[in-house]
Amino acid sequence: MIRIDVLTIFPRLFEAFALESMVGIAARGGQLDLRIRDLRDFADGPHRSVDDAPYGGGPGMVMRPEPLVAGIEALAGEKGPSRRAHVALMTPQGVPLDQARLRSLASSPHLVLVCGRYEGVDQRAIDLAVDEEISLGDYVLSGGEVPAMAIVEGVVRLLPGVLGNPESAAADSFEAGLLEGPHYTRPAVFRGLAVPEVLRSGDHGAVARWRAERAVEVTKVRRPDLLASSRERGNR
Ligand code: SAH
Repeated sequence: MIRIDVLTIFPRLFEAFALESMVGIAARGGQLDLRIRDLRDFADGPHRSVDDAPYGGGPGMVMRPEPLVAGIEALAGEKGPSRRAHVALMTPQGVPLDQARLRSLASSPHLVLVCGRYEGVDQRAIDLAVDEEISLGDYVLSGGEVPAMAIVEGVVRLLPGVLGNPESAAADSFEAGLLEGPHYTRPAVFRGLAVPEVLRSGDHGAVARWRAERAVEVTKVRRPDLLASSRERGNR
């Protein structure tokens, strides 16, 4: 069972997300304990404000450090060796998310995912309370909620007992430094396009070889960088 707390000023964004599909199945199956936390619950003052104007001027607002640090420490304890939870801030300045990072996140017993908004968060909250900064990719979104959902969804499919067929996670793209090849289902011929004969042959060895070849082929064409880095790791 992994526990994941998400700290956000838009908790309602997670309402359907937490119930549907694999995330909902994992929560009901006891593999996932997902708790959505409203950052405003950790803000004091009559307006429970979570943002303020930036020092030095400039456009937009900055998330105040007090509610962030109070929220993170309430969920994860103080930063340091005694902290058992792992606190990740969603930010374009973070390390880009990949399958290896998802695997390491999935092995933690307790994650706290912090969602930024506005122009970002006060640097002191990061220095004082965040263990790791993660980016969803080289583009800018309006908030960390979609990146946090990406992490929850990516982690959930790696939890033991969540996917009906554990082999399907192992065959996924990136697990062996390769993209996955094409998929087909019925009908055998659709608008004149036939399913490759080998997939209908019943020859499991031939099917496995064909899939392995297609995986290498699509990776060579679309993501030669993956082949190069898996060669560096000595995988092939
Ligand atoms: N001014 C910032 C962008 C702020 S976007 C900059 O130029 O870097 C507001 C919030 O959305 C960020 O604090 C972060 O929590 C989230 N966010 C936006 N893009 C993201 C990305 N690619 N990965 C992770 N979080 C992102």
